[in-house]
Amino acid sequence: MKLVVATRNKKKLLEIKEILKGMDLVLLSLDAYKNSPKVIENGKTFKENAVKKAVKLARFTGEFCLGEDSGLCVDALDGAPGIYSARFSGNGKNDIKNNLKLLKLLKGLPRSKRKAHYVCAAALADKGGLVGVVEGRCNGLIAFEPKGSAGFGYDPVFYIPKYKKTFAQLGEKIKHKMSHRYHALEKARRVIQKYIVKQAAG
Ligand code: IMP
Repeated sequence: MKLVVATRNKKKLLEIKEILKGMDLVLLSLDAYKNSPKVIENGKTFKENAVKKAVKLARFTGEFCLGEDSGLCVDALDGAPGIYSARFSGNGKNDIKNNLKLLKLLKGLPRSKRKAHYVCAAALADKGGLVGVVEGRCNGLIAFEPKGSAGFGYDPVFYIPKYKKTFAQLGEKIKHKMSHRYHALEKARRVIQKYIVKQAAG
């Protein structure tokens, strides 16, 4: 079955492909639908934004679609940047600026006050509407300085105490087995499986 993922972020798509590996799915991204409608991410939660992306794209393509919305929530910043993670340092995505802004805001805070978690919401929809929506989380700390080059976004400053390394130092293999995206997509996998069985039964 075809599954259209509502993203143009190549790294995100690769992560999703890797995590859903083994399923009977052909994954396509928005790159396969050049004129797809722009989705305004004005929901109040990750789930709301993920649902918007999935439902709008499914209506447009007529295919089974996955909408994903994710971000970083920092305890010392009352959950910011949260749903605004991509645009934290202003309009136009800039991972380096986002990380620098975050480090500046946390400057001087000890390790015990640097708790954070990533959130990923994944919504599934077809032309008939929403099929399901799930969420996954991953806990960590904000490092004192960026380290590593794997991954994207806040990965150079997202520190996993168990490994004493950032996600960007740990690399894909470990990240994909413990990330917020992994936890959300493991739940999404069950929704997709049920959907495939239902479709096959007619
Ligand atoms: P979205 O594309 O609107 O979902 O924005 C997600 C933003 O959250 C990204 O641009 C990153 O800044 C951040 N983010 C989400 N997931 C991750 C991740 O796995 N690693 C690093 N940053 C992430």
